[in-house]
Parts: sequence; C-alpha cells; structure tokens
Amino acid sequence: MFEIKDLCVSIEEKEILKDFNLSIKEGEIHVLMGPNGAGKSTICKSILNHPNYQITKGSIFYQGKEITHEKTATIAKMGLYYINQTPIEIEGITNLEMLRTALNEQQKELNIFDFKKKCQEVCEKLNIPKSFITRQVNVGMSGGERKKNELLGMWILEPSFLLLDEIDSGLDIDAIKLVGKNLKEYHEKTNASMLIVTHQKNLIDLLNPDYVHVMEHGQMVKTGSKQLAEDILKNGFYEFLEANMISGSGQSE
Ligand code: ADP
Ligand code: MG
Repeated sequence: MFEIKDLCVSIEEKEILKDFNLSIKEGEIHVLMGPNGAGKSTICKSILNHPNYQITKGSIFYQGKEITHEKTATIAKMGLYYINQTPIEIEGITNLEMLRTALNEQQKELNIFDFKKKCQEVCEKLNIPKSFITRQVNVGMSGGERKKNELLGMWILEPSFLLLDEIDSGLDIDAIKLVGKNLKEYHEKTNASMLIVTHQKNLIDLLNPDYVHVMEHGQMVKTGSKQLAEDILKNGFYEFLEANMISGSGQSE
C-alpha cells in the first residue's frame, strides 16, 4: 500500500538520498534507524513533498496512486499523517480550528459537541490538559507537550499511515511509555501502517515492529527483524556497520 522506488533526493544540488527503496503493507510497523545525518528526516520530508527537497529520480506510491510530485495537502488528505522531529508553532490558529478544518477537508465533519467530546477523551488518554483543544497549535508548549499535541491530531483525524520522526525526542521516560501505549492502541484500533524513526528501546519493545531498517549515507543498508534494533542499540552503529562491512561507517556526519 506504500512504496518508495529508487528515490534520489537533493537539497540545494547536493544529493542526500540515493536509490532509496522501501515497501510497507497495510497494518505493518516499520522502524527506521541510522546515524545522525543518514537521511532519515529527508525521507520523511520527501514523502510529503517538502519544497526544499528535490526529487530527482524515482517514485513514491500510496494506496495505488503515485504521489511523488503531489501537493502536500493532497497527500495529507489521502490519510498520511506526519509528526515532525521538531513540531513547529502555528501562531493565530488553534488546535480546534485546524483539526475541524482538516476533518471538513476529508469529509469527516463532526458537530462541535461531538468534536469537543472526542478531543476531551483524547486529552485524557494523552494526559494533557483539556485546554490544549483551544490553544494555538504548539505555541508555548514544551518539546514533550508538542509531541502529545500532534498525537491529539492523530486520534482526531484517524490517518491510515503514520510517519513519525523521532517522536520520542523531548519525552521523559513516562511520556515515552504513554506515547508508545497510545500508538499501540491506535494501531490495534485502526490497523494503520507506520514508519517510525526511532532509537528508543522502550518504544521499539512496546510497538514490536514487523521490520527494522538501517540507513546510512542516504541509502538503505540493512533490513531485519526487531533483533536488528537490539544489536544496534547494544553495540552502536559504528560497530554494527563495521561488522557488516558496510562502507563509509563511522563517517556519517
Ligand atoms: P537524519 O534525520 O538521518 O539525522 P537528515 O535527513 O536530517 O538526517 O540529513 C541528511 C543530510 O542532509 C545531512 O548531511 C544534512 O546536513 C543534510 N541536510 C538536511 N537538511 C538540509 C538543508 N535544509 N540544507 C542543506 N543540507 C541539509
Ligand atoms: Mg532527523
């Protein structure tokens, strides 16, 4: 249902991704790992067709439709939901306004009473104050609160594909457990597919991914099971890449 074929992406003429391939079936959970600068965030942003990332070759398909050069808004309307590594503040727009507009755009309109009731239930699940519903999007929120605020959007918009870039960064250990629990519950409820960039053992254990991928220098270098994540977390990327004789190891920055 989701496929990336031979994708090459450049930023300001510099090639970042080289012939990147990935295939995710409905309901599968994939974890993507790799050293700093490997290109993990570039993958996420390229999927959403971020204007700073030029796709020079290859293609991306979602639900049987090519989305490689599609507008970001169209991709989002198709049910793809992205949580940025550092969610941005949107001043002057409240969560309520943004989420109701997004629901309307997807023809999933709820009346204001049902909408607020659903939001309140989700706030409880996420252990955030109900006042978040009427706060400006991410404005004045801590790193951890922003991640939870983005998950409020997930529960309300009910996407079929989640793209999570380091959702654990900025979260304390209890918040990681809570976020992991929410993602697991969401997966059980909706059977959404997930691509999760993370190096957080607790989160990987909780979500029990179908596949774990390792990338370096803009390319996929290894795919395996959860055991692969455990090996990397135990020994580090340098040792892992050396042991697997993957060139360029240790020079990721
Ligand atoms: P990761 O998320 O795996 O840490 P990124 O995808 O953020 O890596 O970055 C991959 C490479 O692309 C890095 O070398 C980074 O410096 C470069 N890069 C990312 N964004 C930009 C940008 N806006 N301008 C120039 N180079 C960038
Ligand atoms: Mg990144």
